[in-house]
Amino acid sequence: MLLLKSLELSGFKSFAKKTELAFGAPISAIVGPNGSGKSNIAEAFRFVLGEQSIKSLRGKRGEDLIFNGSKSSPRSNRAGVKVVFDNSKKLFNVDFDEVAIERTVHRDGINDYSINGSRVRLRDVMELLSAANVGATGHHIISQGETDRILLASLRERREMIEDALGLKIFHYKKEESEKRLLKTKENIAHVEALRKEIAPHLAFLKKQAEKVERATTMRGELAKLYLEYLKRESTYLTYQTERLKQGKAGPSEKLAVLEQKLSKAKEAVERASETDARGKESLKIEEDLSKVRKEKEQLTRELGRLEGQIAFAEKREKENQSKAALMVSLAEVERVVKEVEEAAVKSKETENPHTLRNILSQITLTLQNFLQEHLFNSPKSGEEDTRALKAEKRGLEEKFAVIERREDDLTKAYQFLKQKIDEAKDESRAAEREMFRIMGEQGELKGQLESFRTEENTLRIEEENFKRELGEAGALIGKEVLAYEHHKIEAVKEDIVSEKRNVQDERRRKIEKIKIRLEELGGSSGEEVLKEYKEVSEREAFLSREVADLEQSALSLKELIAELAEKLNVQFKEGIEKINTEFSRFFQLMFGGGLASLTVIKAPPKRRKRTELDDLEAELPSDLPNEVEEEEEGIDIEISLPHKRIRGLQMLSGGERALTSIALLFAMSQVNPPPFIILDETDAALDEANSKRYGDMIEALSKKSQLILITHNRETMGRASILYGVTMGSDGISKLLSVKFEEAVAVAK
Ligand code: ATP
Repeated sequence: MLLLKSLELSGFKSFAKKTELAFGAPISAIVGPNGSGKSNIAEAFRFVLGEQSIKSLRGKRGEDLIFNGSKSSPRSNRAGVKVVFDNSKKLFNVDFDEVAIERTVHRDGINDYSINGSRVRLRDVMELLSAANVGATGHHIISQGETDRILLASLRERREMIEDALGLKIFHYKKEESEKRLLKTKENIAHVEALRKEIAPHLAFLKKQAEKVERATTMRGELAKLYLEYLKRESTYLTYQTERLKQGKAGPSEKLAVLEQKLSKAKEAVERASETDARGKESLKIEEDLSKVRKEKEQLTRELGRLEGQIAFAEKREKENQSKAALMVSLAEVERVVKEVEEAAVKSKETENPHTLRNILSQITLTLQNFLQEHLFNSPKSGEEDTRALKAEKRGLEEKFAVIERREDDLTKAYQFLKQKIDEAKDESRAAEREMFRIMGEQGELKGQLESFRTEENTLRIEEENFKRELGEAGALIGKEVLAYEHHKIEAVKEDIVSEKRNVQDERRRKIEKIKIRLEELGGSSGEEVLKEYKEVSEREAFLSREVADLEQSALSLKELIAELAEKLNVQFKEGIEKINTEFSRFFQLMFGGGLASLTVIKAPPKRRKRTELDDLEAELPSDLPNEVEEEEEGIDIEISLPHKRIRGLQMLSGGERALTSIALLFAMSQVNPPPFIILDETDAALDEANSKRYGDMIEALSKKSQLILITHNRETMGRASILYGVTMGSDGISKLLSVKFEEAVAVAK
């Protein structure tokens, strides 16, 4: 099958005009005079197949590839080359029967690539080609003068060329691709790790916060339980106490009300008893009267005594007088008595003292009696009359006395009656007072009781207020649920609750307080925000950590893939080398009529290459290391020995021998993994006639497996081609193409 269908050049180097070469035969030859543009065609192949080295296309810049104009023709703006392959056998991994690859370079050096008219990247072209064993290293395009390139190449370059020839480039691409992906993956890992590192402190902080919140939640749960029990107990206790105090107070209050009435009655009674005062006044009056009456009685008694004495004296004197004469009294004597009495009377007026008065009166009486005894009774005439008068006076006094005595009697009786009444009243009053005091005492006791109830009530009120406050706080801290404390079940009956010592409940409250303080220390808020953020950040962290794990997994897979590819490369390379060796020997012997040639895999001297990021990541090297790394690789050495000659080194070969050796090797390589086409630009230039013949034979053998495009001046070679193109260049500096016959070709070539 012929893979290569055609090549079209436009504006490429000397091919100013669109020029198409069709390759409808296994061997096509291009002939023409020196400088007509033949090599430009070989370069057009390299160019369109993705060659990146402008130097290897004999230029300095991309611009050098564009037709530069001549005296008669203007320069082109771009150089384009299109190669068309037959893909009916699907050698290329696209679903078209024909694959047209086109590359254009513009004056600004920009390159465009397209596959079947669609713009693509260079990479796409490379991949497509290497899959079909058409690589860019150009092992199948041997440029002019490059015949022995493989001999001159370094061990490593040689290895690359052989790898390319063996079709291992695809593994290289894959390996490089994997390495790039590994690098990218490592970068991603580093990036993600950096992100993780970045959020780590925040996450740690949030974690702590979240733990606090969780602790607070747990604590709040604990608090809720404690609160429910506390509140339930407290409300039970308070209800009970309220009721108890209410009932306790009722009895004393009622009693007190009753006592109040009793007391006012008792007071009335006492009031009444105080009326005795009036009686007291009355009794005093009686006492006074009585004393007056008694005095009068005394006076009367005395006067009666005197009268009786006077009467007895008068009667005695009467008897005497009946014997005696009348009595004479001098005036002077009378005047003296009068004077004496008058003086006494004056004295009496000066005093109010009854006693003094009485004395004065007695004095007067005595004076008068003495006078009478001396003189009057000595008078016989008046004796009888005096007695009568005295007796009459006595009778009068006695009557008076009797009246006074009766009056005294009456008064005494009245007094006694009154006294009895007063005593009775006094008794009554005392009893009333006693009652009053008893009531007051009882009241005091009841008031005391009520007072202590009130004290208890005050305490209870404080407790109720505390309870309400606590309830409010509980609601704020725990939420509505805690307000349903009434329905909370606790393991205690009402009796237990109310009889429990208060300090037990106080202890509960203290516990609650403690938790509240600890809650406050943990930060009062419910922390929903924190939990949300913690969740978000830890989810992000989890995501990143998964990402890292995934990336690490893919890095691992890539490493495995790389190792696998390396292994595949190694194995296939070694197998390929063996196969090439066999062919190499055969071609070599064919060329030289004997001798030995072989390739050996040897360790290439370490190659220094720029350190890549991949290396750094791989080895985690510090960045201050030298910018290059040493790489040990295997290279390819060529050993030959010519028949009949003691030549062993490549350096010692003649130009022709070198050409033959390299041709043998190139052909061997092409035999093992035949490329779809081979372009040989004057590979045969150095051959003499005999060798040209052998060369021609080998070409024919080669053309069985690969399509050949030969640029040549060699008659022998031309003779093997079925298609011949002649290239000429006129004075316009533009290469022209024409199909020629063998004879013409021979002529053109000269
Ligand atoms: P030989 O037989 O001596 O190897 P050749 O046929 O291979 O010769 P080439 O090397 O392909 O010749 O062609 C070289 C010619 O192409 C030169 O005449 C050169 O001036 C011309 N050429 C190269 N680049 C350009 C360009 N950018 N524009 C115009 N002409 C160019």
